[in-house]
Amino acid sequence: MTDVVIIGSGISGAATAYELAKEGLSVVLVDRFGPAAMASGWTLAGVRQSGRHIAELPLAKAAVEIWETLGDELDASTHYRRGGNLRLARNEEEVAIIRGIVAEQTSSGLQLDFLPTTRDVREIAPALSEDVLAASFCPTDGSADPSSTVAAFVAAAVRLGVETRFGERVLEVETEDGKVTGVRTDKGSIPTRKVVVAAGIFGNELLRPLGIDVPLQIPMVTVLRSAPLDAVLEQVIGVANADCAGRQEFNGRFRVTSGLQDWHGGLQETQKPEGTRPRVLPTGRSMAQVVELFGHVVPAFAQAQIEESWVGLIDLTPDALPVIDADAGPEGLVVAMGFSGHGFCLGPITGRLIADLVQERPARLPIEPFRYQRFHNSRSFAEEATLHG
Ligand SMILES: Cc1cc2nc3c(=O)[nH]c(=O)nc-3n(C[C@H](O)[C@H](O)[C@H](O)COP(=O)(O)OP(=O)(O)OC[C@H]3O[C@@H](n4cnc5c(N)ncnc54)[C@H](O)[C@@H]3O)c2cc1C
Repeated sequence: MTDVVIIGSGISGAATAYELAKEGLSVVLVDRFGPAAMASGWTLAGVRQSGRHIAELPLAKAAVEIWETLGDELDASTHYRRGGNLRLARNEEEVAIIRGIVAEQTSSGLQLDFLPTTRDVREIAPALSEDVLAASFCPTDGSADPSSTVAAFVAAAVRLGVETRFGERVLEVETEDGKVTGVRTDKGSIPTRKVVVAAGIFGNELLRPLGIDVPLQIPMVTVLRSAPLDAVLEQVIGVANADCAGRQEFNGRFRVTSGLQDWHGGLQETQKPEGTRPRVLPTGRSMAQVVELFGHVVPAFAQAQIEESWVGLIDLTPDALPVIDADAGPEGLVVAMGFSGHGFCLGPITGRLIADLVQERPARLPIEPFRYQRFHNSRSFAEEATLHG
């Protein structure tokens, strides 16, 4: 019998597979599409502590420490770069918002500087427009390449003996007498006593039959990727009201995102050389808006040729915090989902925390705020704009 079945090979599932294999467990990693086929491939892939909920900050800080040497550990490049994160103010109202964020986050122990003038901001990032009035700057934030990172976790896990089953869909988590006994997939059954559900927006499809229903909204984000340009921007850029964000990748391409938009519910499946992949098409209007908004703060992007576009879907919980929990349902089930648009940075520490839960030891960092049970007290969604990226 397999020790653990992990459902989902996004960054959360792939990192978990690697951590558990490192500890000598036998692991099967199943994904209905393949590695980084959903949020972990659609993402902006900012590795950011700034702008985090205070409950998530210890996780983000721990993750950033791991990111520094992760490529060496996995023996493959993650293209991690600690270039900093700038959150920009474009008008006086946004200046006040940024001041507030800096005051709050500095008091929780994060190094976050307030850059009060256009000149201060452009000294750090000369590619930014003269219209930027002020910014917050977190020098220890950064970014990585999402597909390379997930592929690196999977490859390292496979070297340690993890069996991967890609293009295989889990239909059911099987239980008996309140205990996990296996998973049933569209290709057969895998007996096991431990299952990790790291299935992103599809997590509830597997959890509902077990009496668990993580309250989720699923907004979408339009993402554009440009042709390669000369390297001009090191930082990940966000704005005070979160209506756009972006960065320049290691290969010179800009990867730029919109704010949260309503998802119409459509999801197509397309054939790619690596297998079937889910795809949601962005509207022409939202693409034009992204070019206008991000091009306004980074003029080089306004002129760039757009080579690729897609929509990313987000598993947003009412408090924008994830569920990381081994007590949500039957014995042997561990839930890791609802990362609410900022779970990429956390991936490496999520893998370690889930390994703690699977191994039934105390989690190495506080995870009380991420319990499923909290939704029984309140299920209403926050009104304020949620930062993703
Ligand atoms: C546009 C966008 C921008 C973002 N920007 C950032 C950012 O800058 N920084 C940051 O930290 N985070 C960001 N995020 C969020 C981050 O990408 C996600 O929180 C993170 O990737 C979630 O990873 P995951 O492994 O939990 O889920 P996913 O990557 O969604 O993986 C879930 C996997 O489960 C598989 N699956 C689902 N159902 C089944 C089933 N029944 N059987 C088998 N497999 C199944 C899917 O195929 C999928 O591969 C962004 C997200 C988006 C969409």
